[in-house]
Amino acid sequence: MKKAVGIATVSLLLAFIIGFAVFDGVFNKNISGNFFAMDTVVSFDITGKDSEEAAEQAEKTVKTLDSEILSRHNESSFTARVNKTAGGRMEDHFKSYVSTLLDVNAKSNGAFDFTLGAVSDLWSFNDSPRVPDSSEIIDALSHSGCGKIKIEEDYLSLTDAQTVLDFGAAGKGIALDEIKNNFADKTVKRAIVSVGGSVLLYGEDKFTVGIRKPDGNAGEFIGILTVDACCISTSGSYERNFEENGLTYHHILDPKTGYPVDNGIISVTVISDSGILSDTLSTACFVLGTEEGMKLAEEYGCETVFVTSDKKIYASDGAAKMLEITDSEYTAVN
Ligand code: AMP
Ligand code: MG
Repeated sequence: MKKAVGIATVSLLLAFIIGFAVFDGVFNKNISGNFFAMDTVVSFDITGKDSEEAAEQAEKTVKTLDSEILSRHNESSFTARVNKTAGGRMEDHFKSYVSTLLDVNAKSNGAFDFTLGAVSDLWSFNDSPRVPDSSEIIDALSHSGCGKIKIEEDYLSLTDAQTVLDFGAAGKGIALDEIKNNFADKTVKRAIVSVGGSVLLYGEDKFTVGIRKPDGNAGEFIGILTVDACCISTSGSYERNFEENGLTYHHILDPKTGYPVDNGIISVTVISDSGILSDTLSTACFVLGTEEGMKLAEEYGCETVFVTSDKKIYASDGAAKMLEITDSEYTAVN
């Protein structure tokens, strides 16, 4: 009799364990992968009952945003059409992106400028980079500036037909926000989606994110941030650059000069609840430098980590608490 009870207990326990494993497999289904969009590699790692559906939707979201809305290189996108015809009627989402970007432009005193497309095109960082003549830069700069954007209700017009809108500093963050919104009506327990230098961390766990070693490989870090769910974007001069006559030119431009920013900043990482803010502010802070950049990010309630060419790390108060410096060559300035 005792033996029969023992067998029954073991069977029940086994059934429970198998049942739990099946339940766990269904509710914590993990899917990971990558694809190419927005001129960069997008990678995802999603866990939850609806992970497959969420991954499919994330891919569709980034690709559609890129090809139909934000890319200035795809002739059929809304942005390319606005650039070509100096105007267009905006959908609500687009209108809200533009409104955020104009706000960051104003608060950064023009350091963040998404009308620099004609200047970026001259440098051609994505295909055959070259140092433009200064006369070309002066001419392209004369067609830049957010003052050339006019908005009347849903209609955006460019008062200068040669102005070129460029969402290169914001598109990746916008993609993260749209992906996060799509997760809301699904069972997604945990997700990490990275679109180039912008990463969505989703779920209730803690996450660790490395701050890339500027002169190292992609997997080498100088510090580790431990964060809750957030969006985190890094702008770095090591991202897109080229060398000519012993000088290195990178893709983040000073809107005042049209030349790559040369202020000793190597990278800026911004932590925010919002993807569009983390992305735009990482670029804005790069242009502004440590002091003004940190102040700007603070206005938006975002945390920042600046890395400079003399191997110093400037972190905002909140970020300093999340950051562990792991490379002894770098020192914290706080
Ligand atoms: P990110 O990697 O997010 O910092 O974005 C850099 C990209 O934004 C560049 O490749 C340009 O397309 C564009 N860009 C360059 N300089 C600026 C600037 N000062 N303000 C806004 N966008 C910029
Ligand atoms: Mg950016």
